Amino acid sequence: MTNLKYKRIILKISGEALAGDQGFGIYPPVISSIAKQIKDAHDLGVEIAIVCGGGNIWRGKTGAELGMERAQADYMGMMATVMNALSLQDALEQIGVPTRVQTSVEMRQIAEPYIRRKAIRHLEKGRVVIFAGGTGNPYFSTDTTSVLRAAEIGADVILMAKNDVDGVYSADPNKDQTAVKYEELTHLDVINKQLGVMDTTASSLSMDNNITLVVFNMNQEGNIKKVIEGENIGTTIKGENK
Ligand code: UDP
Repeated sequence: MTNLKYKRIILKISGEALAGDQGFGIYPPVISSIAKQIKDAHDLGVEIAIVCGGGNIWRGKTGAELGMERAQADYMGMMATVMNALSLQDALEQIGVPTRVQTSVEMRQIAEPYIRRKAIRHLEKGRVVIFAGGTGNPYFSTDTTSVLRAAEIGADVILMAKNDVDGVYSADPNKDQTAVKYEELTHLDVINKQLGVMDTTASSLSMDNNITLVVFNMNQEGNIKKVIEGENIGTTIKGENK
């Protein structure tokens, strides 16, 4: 525990990461391998909270573009994040990691409601807490949720897990050969350069609350552990005064 760079983390997992190569829905073998990585990190003694996305099932914006009312479509997106959270909980518990799911929208039969103090207590007791349902409000994202929860529970860092992208680049490395990877950025850089790491609501909330973020590739085994142990992988994004 003493050698860890971070003691309490938020891991943001996008819905896409849970879909595997099929690109849609939930693919249990991929979730099992993510769970294994989380277990390895958990075994180090770090407190882990997870924020799940839902884009592998439904995105509110897509529904709105197809003619739905945005708020209604966003509520469907929040439900999608709950499905992902339950699948992750299942995979973690199957390998012996104690977990609790907390939802921002009450669903008492299947999960606890989000209660900040209770979430902190679970973390202190060594349980992995999975935050589902986003912020509980339409027009927001699960990236914003991860920043909000990080500020609320006093997390040291947000680990923003990406699929096959090992950090933040000046341009899309698949399309532009001159693209360079940034080792370190500030949230203001991300906003000014329009780097698209997160939506601007999430970036500005991070900036205002001095939240540190590490963008890294989760598809490489052992990377979660490496970040927690302080290895310099991915891109670190900090507030101006950190
Ligand atoms: N969502 C929402 N409010 C929130 C978080 C999420 O309305 O606070 C909805 C929104 O429709 C979003 C969907 O849930 O498109 C899935 O979340 P997100 O797109 O952030 O998932 P990811 O891209 O990380 O898979």
